Amino acid sequence: MIDVINPATEELITSLLPDNEDELSRKFSLAQDAQKEWASTSLKERKAVIARFDKVLSKHKQDCARTLTKEMGKPITQALHEVEGTSTRISFFLEHMEKTLQDETVLKSASMVEKITYEPLGVIANISAWNYPYFVGSNVFIPALLTGNAVLYKPSEFASLTGGKIAQLFEEAGLPVGLFQVVIGGGNTGSMLLEKPLNGVFFTGSVGTGRKISAAVASRFIRVGLELGGKDPAYVCDDVDVGTVAENLVDGAFYNAGQSCCSVERIYIHEKVFNNFTEAFCEKTKKLVVGDPLREETYIGPLARKTQINFLNDQVADAQGKGALILVTGGAKEGKGWYYRPVVLGNVDHSMKVMREESFGPIIGLMRVKNDSEAVKLMQDTTYGLTASVYTKDGDRASEILGDMNTGTVYWNCCDRVSPALPWTGRRDSGLGSTLSKIGILSFVQPKAWHMRKT
Ligand code: NAD
Repeated sequence: MIDVINPATEELITSLLPDNEDELSRKFSLAQDAQKEWASTSLKERKAVIARFDKVLSKHKQDCARTLTKEMGKPITQALHEVEGTSTRISFFLEHMEKTLQDETVLKSASMVEKITYEPLGVIANISAWNYPYFVGSNVFIPALLTGNAVLYKPSEFASLTGGKIAQLFEEAGLPVGLFQVVIGGGNTGSMLLEKPLNGVFFTGSVGTGRKISAAVASRFIRVGLELGGKDPAYVCDDVDVGTVAENLVDGAFYNAGQSCCSVERIYIHEKVFNNFTEAFCEKTKKLVVGDPLREETYIGPLARKTQINFLNDQVADAQGKGALILVTGGAKEGKGWYYRPVVLGNVDHSMKVMREESFGPIIGLMRVKNDSEAVKLMQDTTYGLTASVYTKDGDRASEILGDMNTGTVYWNCCDRVSPALPWTGRRDSGLGSTLSKIGILSFVQPKAWHMRKT
């Protein structure tokens, strides 16, 4: 059974029966049949269903947000923000679908016409993480459905109720039966799902699971998208307003209790502003409200997973053992709930796990650097490649630094930000392929090349 536990109270909300082999086979063949018909409908019809889904989502947004808060501890204002933000992404897809999928005639001569058209992949699996189930889920299932695919959506075992909610919303929106089905279960169920003759797998989660998924389907040459972890750096130059930047980076590091793939996980600070920045950062961190995620004033709720407490404690102990200083003393809270108050570490270096391994929680290391080239070297001293940010008043300086980053996303004077119009893509251990933007739409179709000679 999958026990759904409220991380704020440690109470059992419900227990769910994971899908077995027979159930997965039944769901797959239902999806396969439904997809054939769906692919033959017009884009206009498909868009009408997704537009209705958007309306239904908006109607139920409070309920969706509360469910998310209860099952994974995200503060209610942040949960609502995620549900509402999903609408912005849906609008982008609705607006850009036609143009992106348009047939393109690339050659027209007296004897020959060449053109490109796009066809859906077929039945895809969407195996998802728990930290932003609406965002990372909709990045996949909305464009996948709009382009004519069927989706077997496996939410994380820590967001199963949200998975069920999304299926209900599709039902209310009138999506034909079988096109979006939820697969309940954990890693074993996910791995059984991969044995079905899928036409694509789109995964969001950890690097370790990403590797397993990639290996499991490698011999089948199906489309694979992997959105994995990060150890995202920020660099604070010597020409900034430290108060403003500290405020922005506290948010970038601790929003959703630091459980975002693009959370800022390490900060390098030019020595000229190091002391002032550190003071401002610590002061603002201490003011963050940690507590009941159902209360509107809460900024940091409990961690979604109990095991993460030991993982974070280990990173802090490792850093302390190697000479780090605790600048803000946080850590696990006594009593019920998997709460973890933010920890800020100083005097850190790259021998410490906290500067190298993804933390995925409210802990951060602040490191002094002498100049831009030292900052660039340290920012790039990682196996990840998701995002990197730089704070400076000088645009040329920012472009030069960000140009050196081997990451899918770069930020100037901002961080921890996703736009539906830009591709969301990781390099190296942060993943493969893109979602969002027109590139993310094309992830769900296969091109067909037409060579047409006039006789
Ligand atoms: P996870 O890897 O533990 O699980 C992700 C999903 O994979 C879950 O649904 C899980 O049940 C399933 N799974 C586990 N083992 C499997 C297997 N062998 N075969 C098939 N499926 C399997 O990750 P998580 O804890 O849910 O998510 C946190 C991670 O996700 C972090 O590393 C975070 O950075 C990453 N993430 C990345 C992005 C991005 O866009 N790059 C977005 C959100 C989260």
